[in-house]
Amino acid sequence: MIKMIEIDGSVGEGGGQILRTSLALSMCTGQPFTLKNIRAGRKKPGLMRQHLTCVNAATEVCDATVHGAEMNSQLLRFAPGKVHAGRYSFNVGTAGSCTLVLQTVWPALLLADGPSHLSLCGGTHNPMAPPFHFLERSYAPLMRKLGANVGLALRRLGFYPAGGGEIEATIWPAQDTLQPFDLMERGRMQEGFAECFAPALPRTVAQRELAYLETALGWTKEQLRIGTARQNEGPGNALMVTLVYENLSEVFTQFGEKGVSAERVARALVQEVRAYQQSEAALGPHLADQWALPLALAVCRRGREAAYTCTELTAHAKTNFDVIERFLPVAFLVSDARAGWRVTVKPAHEN
Ligand code: AMP
Repeated sequence: MIKMIEIDGSVGEGGGQILRTSLALSMCTGQPFTLKNIRAGRKKPGLMRQHLTCVNAATEVCDATVHGAEMNSQLLRFAPGKVHAGRYSFNVGTAGSCTLVLQTVWPALLLADGPSHLSLCGGTHNPMAPPFHFLERSYAPLMRKLGANVGLALRRLGFYPAGGGEIEATIWPAQDTLQPFDLMERGRMQEGFAECFAPALPRTVAQRELAYLETALGWTKEQLRIGTARQNEGPGNALMVTLVYENLSEVFTQFGEKGVSAERVARALVQEVRAYQQSEAALGPHLADQWALPLALAVCRRGREAAYTCTELTAHAKTNFDVIERFLPVAFLVSDARAGWRVTVKPAHEN
C-alpha cells in the first residue's frame, strides 16, 4: 500500500500553490495525498474556480480518484492513476488564471510517454499568477534548458473581470532528457524593454505608463512598446518589463486597476525592476519559487544536485520547498549569497 501524504494547507504561505504543487507531484510520483485547510491563509479560503479547474485538470490527466473537488471545499483527497499524454482542453470559466492550470499538469505531462496538446481558457494576465509572457520568456526557456521541450502560444488575452483568454501549449516527453543544471549568474545583459497591453482603455493609459518608465529607467523610445491587442480582449491593463540576460530572462508585471493612476502602476513596476537590478542573484522572486519544482524533478531523475541563486526568498518559495520535500526524495538547502540567496537541491540520499 502506498502511504497517503497528509498536507496542511494552512502552513507557511497558505495559498493555492500548496494545492498545485501537491497535485503536480502526486501525479508525477503516484503518491496519494490529503490536503486539509485548503488556502486557509486567504481571505476566501477553500477551492475557488481556478483551483477547482486545477483539480479537475489533474484528475482528467491521470484518471485520479478524488473526494472534495467542489467549490469552497477545504478538504481534498487525491489518489492519482496513470498519467496519459493526449489532447486536453481546460476552461476556468471565469477570469481565474489559466497559466496556473497549465503549471499544475505540466510536470506530469513532461514525464508522460508521448506529446500532449493543451488548450486553456481563462485569465492569461492576472495579478498573483504568472502572466503568459512570463511563462513564455522566463519559465519556458529554462524548462527547455532542463531538457523539457514546450511550445506556447497566446491566442487571446484574458484579463479580470471578463476572462476569455486562450493559451495553447504542446508538452513533449522529457523523462529521458531532463538534466539538472546550476543557475548562479544572470550573465551579460543583452536587452531590456517595456510593453503595455491596455485593450479597450484610452491610449493615453499606455502612453503615460510607458512615459513614466522612460524617465525612471532612463530608457529610449525604442525600448517602449504598446502591445498588440484587440479591443474585445479588454478592458485590461498589464505593464511589463522584460530583462534579457545571457543565462535567463526576467519579466516583471504590474496591473492597472480602476482608481489607480497610470503613474502609480508604473512606479510599482520600477520598484520591482530596481529591487532585481540591485541584486546580482540570478532568479527574481517569482521564478525562485516556480523553478524549485522542475529542478527538483530533474535532480531526482539524475541523482545529481543542482543550485540557483535568487534575489529574495519569499514565503511562496519556502512553502514550496517544504511541500516538494514531502513528495520527492530531495532536500532544499538555503544559504546567503552575494546580495541574495543560494538554493541547493540535493538528492535526499546525499544528506
Ligand atoms: P498562490 O498565491 O499560492 O496561488 O501562488 C501564486 C503563484 O503565482 C506563485 O508561484 C507566484 O510566484 C506566481 N506569481 C504571482 N505573481 C507573479 C508575477 N507577477 N510574475 C510571475 N509569477 C507570479
